[in-house]
Amino acid sequence: MSGEPSVSSAVIRGLEFLDRHAGEWYCTRCWADEVGADARTLHRVSVLMGTDEARLAGYEAKADGACKVHDAKGARLAGRKGPRSVRGLRKPRS
Ligand SMILES: [Zn+2]
Repeated sequence: MSGEPSVSSAVIRGLEFLDRHAGEWYCTRCWADEVGADARTLHRVSVLMGTDEARLAGYEAKADGACKVHDAKGARLAGRKGPRSVRGLRKPRS
């Protein structure tokens, strides 16, 4: 595929990913890996997600939080996490 993927499409993919995995924390680095987006782009999103408005919209972020991927790999990778962690708060409906 040619051309730069737009920032907004990366953000949308990121939020859809969090919706599918609601309740699970991901560091920004793993989040970017999972959705195929630039980690710096999603880091900026994570900063915006640290607000009450974002929480009301169903998303949460915090500095130096947990990460499902890193937790599964063990503590020796803990220092290589992204600087912030994010999660979706919406419960999936079946
Ligand atoms: Zn991680």
